[in-house]
Amino acid sequence: MIICLTLITSFIFSSELCSLCSTPLSKNFLTDSWGNNFHPNHLKESIFCKSCNRVISESITQGGYILPDSRYICNLCHQSSITKNSQIKKIKKTSINFMQKLGLEIIDNFNINLIDQNTLLDSLKEHGLHSISFQAFTKCDEKECNIYILDYLPKILFQSILIHEMTHIWLRQNNFITNLKEEEGFCNLVSSYFLKNEQSKFSSILLKSLFENSDTIYGNGYRLMNKKLEEFGWEKIINDFKKK
Ligand SMILES: [Zn+2]
Ligand SMILES: [Zn+2]
Ligand SMILES: [Zn+2]
Repeated sequence: MIICLTLITSFIFSSELCSLCSTPLSKNFLTDSWGNNFHPNHLKESIFCKSCNRVISESITQGGYILPDSRYICNLCHQSSITKNSQIKKIKKTSINFMQKLGLEIIDNFNINLIDQNTLLDSLKEHGLHSISFQAFTKCDEKECNIYILDYLPKILFQSILIHEMTHIWLRQNNFITNLKEEEGFCNLVSSYFLKNEQSKFSSILLKSLFENSDTIYGNGYRLMNKKLEEFGWEKIINDFKKK
């Protein structure tokens, strides 16, 4: 996720208070994607949560943590962060069910592994592997596939990334080969469908960042596939893969 701040110039008198210091906002203020408004001069000393991009502070996020791999994570994300195999097992099951309902039957012959940021970056560098904003990658051989995902991600972000990676595996299991743009676009499309169903503030922010992604593969691919979905529906998209 890219840190997205908007500079607002308000011409009406604002009685609103700064989310960080609780004093009145001036004419110019910054607003983050969560709608927190604050004085521009806080930016210098601010630390943003790696997962949700809110400023880590007592008032906005009830504080936060620094992980051993130097990532900053806010307390709100930490409350639902995925760190244990028992959590993964549950999310894997609900994700398989979610995809099944969409008509994407996936064979459970893949593992989900948690890794820290250093291991992730090393692996990406080593193999020149596929990545989604450097938060996960998938490796397959003849027998099985392994998904590697950053640890400590909040549940909703974790599951949206997992579903993206699982969609790659589903395409592979069915020998559906397409171009990179369509493949990444489709994986994002399935992931976005999950986010739409979640109906939370965080899911709508993640959804917005998928739509606004300027990347020619991920962003353009997603917008292309989303247009196809609106025009033809899931069944036609899936049937089109079969023909390729
Ligand atoms: Zn302030
Ligand atoms: Zn956070
Ligand atoms: Zn991907």
